[in-house]
Amino acid sequence: MAGEFELIKRHFHYPVSHSVLGVGDDAALMQPRPGMQLAVSTDMLVAGRHFFADADPFLLGWKTAAVNISDMAAMGAEPRWITLALALPEADEAWVGAMARGFRDCCEAYCVDWVGGDTTRGPLNLCATIFGEVSPDKAVRRTGADHGDDLWVSGWPGMAALGLAHLQDRLELVSDWREACLERLHRPLPRVALGLALRGVASAMLDVSDGLCGDLSHILEASEVGAILDETLLPLEPLLAACKRTEAATKALLSGGDDYELLFAAPREQRGHVEAIGRHLELPLHRIGRILDKPGLWLQRGDGVAEALQAGGFDHFQTD
Ligand code: ADP
Ligand code: MG
Repeated sequence: MAGEFELIKRHFHYPVSHSVLGVGDDAALMQPRPGMQLAVSTDMLVAGRHFFADADPFLLGWKTAAVNISDMAAMGAEPRWITLALALPEADEAWVGAMARGFRDCCEAYCVDWVGGDTTRGPLNLCATIFGEVSPDKAVRRTGADHGDDLWVSGWPGMAALGLAHLQDRLELVSDWREACLERLHRPLPRVALGLALRGVASAMLDVSDGLCGDLSHILEASEVGAILDETLLPLEPLLAACKRTEAATKALLSGGDDYELLFAAPREQRGHVEAIGRHLELPLHRIGRILDKPGLWLQRGDGVAEALQAGGFDHFQTD
C-alpha cells in the first residue's frame, strides 16, 4: 500500500470551490457567509455493522458522504464542507481510489467541499463530519410538531429495505424492480432541496435512517406529542410491485431504514404549500398521518380500527 502521505496526495486532495483552504495544511479554513449559523453533524460507517466488508468501494464512498449530507437536509441546512476520517486495515490503492471517487462524486453532486480528514491503519471504518450553513432560527428541529399537524414523508421509503432483504436472501424481488431497490440502498440521494424548501413550513423534521416508525418516535418524544398513521395513505405501490407481498411491503415501509427520505410534520394550513413544493421539486410527498396531542403511535387500518404501535411495539414490523 502506498504511504499515508502518498495516498492523501493522490486520492484526497481536490480543489475547493468555496473554502479559504482545503486539504494539505494542519487545518482547513472555511468562511461561513455573514450572519449564518453553522450546522455540524458526524456519521460513522463501520464494516460489519453498516456495510459488508466486501462492499463496492465507490458506493461505500458515496454513501458515507450521502448519509452526512442527509443530516443537513434534515435540519433545513445547506451542506457546505465535509471531512473524512478513515481507518484502513490494508486497503489496496484501487480500493482507496474507488472509495475516494464515490465520496467525491457525492460531494460534487451536492456542492460540498471535501476539506480534510485523517487516514490511519485500523479496522475498516469511515467517519465523516459535515458542516452546513443555516439562517438563524431557520433550522427545522425535531421539537416543533404540534397537535393537528399533518405528517409527511418524501419519496418511496422502504425500497432500500427491500433491496437489503433481497441481498440477504430473505425476499424475492420482481426483476424489473430489483435494480431500483438496490440503487436506493447503495446510492441514497439526500433530499437537500426539499429540506431547504421546508424551512418555515415544516414544524419538525428528520431524515429516516433507522426506520420510519423508529425515527418518527424521535420526533414524537422531542415534541411531546403522539401520532396516527393512516394505512390507506401509505405509499405502498412500488413496494407491492417489487415484492408482491402486502405484509413484507408494509414492514419495509414502516420499519425499513436506509432510504434517507425526509419525515416531517407541517401545520394543516401548509398542505397546499407542501404539495406545491413537491410539484416544483418533482418529488412525491406523501401525507401519511397526523400529529395527536396524547403520546403514543397508532396505525389506523383500512377497516377503521386503530392499532397501537407503542414504543417497543414495532416488533410486528421488524423485517428480521
Ligand atoms: P496531521 O499530521 O496534521 O494530522 P495529516 O498528515 O493527518 O496531518 O494530514 C495531512 C493533510 O491531509 C491534512 O490537511 C488532512 O486534512 C488531510 N487528510 C488526511 N486524511 C484525509 C482524508 N481521509 N480525507 C481528506 N483529507 C485528508
Ligand atoms: Mg492527521
